[in-house]
Amino acid sequence: MASIEKNLEIIEKKIEQAKKHADQNVQIIAVTKSVSVDRTKEVLKAGLIHIGENRPEGLLAKKEEIKDQAVWHYIGTLQSRKVKQVINEIDYLHSLDRLSLAEEIEKRAEKVVKCFVQVNVSGEESKHGLREEDVIPFIQSLQKFSKIQVVGLMTMAPYTDDEDVIRKVFQDLKRIQQEVVNLNLPYAPCKELSMGMSNDYEIAIEEGATFVRIGTALVG
Ligand SMILES: *Cc1c(COP(=O)(O)O)cnc(C)c1O
Repeated sequence: MASIEKNLEIIEKKIEQAKKHADQNVQIIAVTKSVSVDRTKEVLKAGLIHIGENRPEGLLAKKEEIKDQAVWHYIGTLQSRKVKQVINEIDYLHSLDRLSLAEEIEKRAEKVVKCFVQVNVSGEESKHGLREEDVIPFIQSLQKFSKIQVVGLMTMAPYTDDEDVIRKVFQDLKRIQQEVVNLNLPYAPCKELSMGMSNDYEIAIEEGATFVRIGTALVG
């Protein structure tokens, strides 16, 4: 297994290259869902502070040892009955995709939670997230929740070698984000775009990503 420093060096070079076509700040979220607590500690040693997990067990196991030395991102689908386990342990939720989840967060959260609304831009049946046409009505319906702040939108591109297909998904998410920004909702500034994984983060950055979620290429 390559060292995390080595992997990060390569990723940072590619990010610099991609940023020639973009001017936003980009944060790397190290997705550690498939590695140990020790490997996760190496991520911090390499200088990254954003950690992403997609299951309550993984998040809690890592947080128990690392505590507040990291910024914690929950990137997986969150079942309503698991909200109480994680919602006060995380800094960002990337998978807000339904009203029942918002209601449970409102009930359980002790402070405002920074949320990304997950959008299924590509419309694949296997993917979670709202359809494009439902995004704005959904965000408008969040006004009554005092514990939810919509900081941005999140999507996953289809798994394909076709760069044009991937790029189109990211461009679409950016366009929807602009529509939300234009609503000027105090609880939904929606400045951030969480898009791009190991296979497509460079394209995502070219299209405006502010958070890229990188697992395999960094820790794998
Ligand atoms: C696993 C995962 C990632 C990271 O995927 P890699 O291809 O390993 O970089 C990013 N986002 C989500 C939602 C994931 O579940």
